[in-house]
Amino acid sequence: MRELGLERSDIAKAFADIDELAAQCKFRDCTHDNEPHCAVKKTISEGILTEERLISYQKLKKEAKYDGLNSKQIEKEKINEMFSGLGGMKNARNYIKVKSRK
Ligand SMILES: [Zn+2]
Repeated sequence: MRELGLERSDIAKAFADIDELAAQCKFRDCTHDNEPHCAVKKTISEGILTEERLISYQKLKKEAKYDGLNSKQIEKEKINEMFSGLGGMKNARNYIKVKSRK
């Protein structure tokens, strides 16, 4: 499958660091809430990451209902969904082109 150039998506950019941290959590399905050995919580306790950003990240994931996907994948799914009735990925590609022109 061809790369769609979604790396620049706002969501992926905004939460890329949390995705990276989440990958270091002990549990793959970590919710970064009360789990032991949570890399995200550890970073918050060290003052590197703010709790507000974690909350926004969790809210985004919850709203999107794409548990287990990282933010880049969520963005892809959203675009897929958005264009599923309009010819699918062909239109999505055009949309991305227009969007990245900004
Ligand atoms: Zn965690």
